[in-house]
Amino acid sequence: MLRRISLLIVLAIVLTPVNSTRGWGFKAHMRINSDAVDTLPPGMKKFFESERNFISEHAVDPDKWKGDDKAEMPRHYIDMDMYGTYPFKGLPRDYEEAVRKFGAEVVNGRGTLPWRIIEYTHKLANDMKSGNREKIRMTAAALGHYVGDLHSPLHAAENYNGQYTNNYGVHKQFESRMINANLVSYDPEPDEATSIEDPLVHAFDIILNSYNLVLPILEADTKARKILTQTQIDSLNDWRSKDIPEYLSILYSDLGDMGWNQMNSASYNLGRYWVTAWELAGKPLLPE
Ligand SMILES: [Zn+2]
Repeated sequence: MLRRISLLIVLAIVLTPVNSTRGWGFKAHMRINSDAVDTLPPGMKKFFESERNFISEHAVDPDKWKGDDKAEMPRHYIDMDMYGTYPFKGLPRDYEEAVRKFGAEVVNGRGTLPWRIIEYTHKLANDMKSGNREKIRMTAAALGHYVGDLHSPLHAAENYNGQYTNNYGVHKQFESRMINANLVSYDPEPDEATSIEDPLVHAFDIILNSYNLVLPILEADTKARKILTQTQIDSLNDWRSKDIPEYLSILYSDLGDMGWNQMNSASYNLGRYWVTAWELAGKPLLPE
């Protein structure tokens, strides 16, 4: 019996891809990182332009780190609604203060995404000071992943996969399937990036905005799954299942504009975090 259970566990691990839990699809993350390069001021543009492919291709690396590092998973989300009601004033925005109030286990378990953004902004500033091309492009790509996740509404709530509201499987359907099926229609125009006055407050502002978009996603999913058979509904959370075009087209008609808006804002804000890091570093010349 024990052997059978352990075999099942092994199978479950082998068959579950690392990206199956939370996160924009690979294509959306890559696109967000690439488009962010277009927002940059002249002093940064040349370096980032020359590394655009790398920064785009490595946009999903942090999702892959989850496989080797258990601590990585909660760095991709924050369950804001576990801290009371909007705008969740009971959660101190300062990490140390939050830990003093709730304990490290609680704070880390509910997700640390906004603080990860700050950590990586400072890491990028240090890498820029060091002038190390490898480090700069890797950190810039990873920061892009986290800023992307910050704009993904289902990264802001405990009910991140609709598991509490009969919307099970909505996470991947919205973030990945709906976006991928319509990506040819995406025509972003992110504004020119400027530095951010308070990077932590800004990160929380973005996540609060994301949180407010959770309900419309659940409502659209509830509406769209009404046309499905039970077998189709059961397949929504199965990563091996095929797209259900009629379901995705209802999602897209209700949520498409919002999804594009979030991706566009992600590129803009990623540009802003990159510029902020560069200013923190003292605007060094980036490697030729
Ligand atoms: Zn992620």
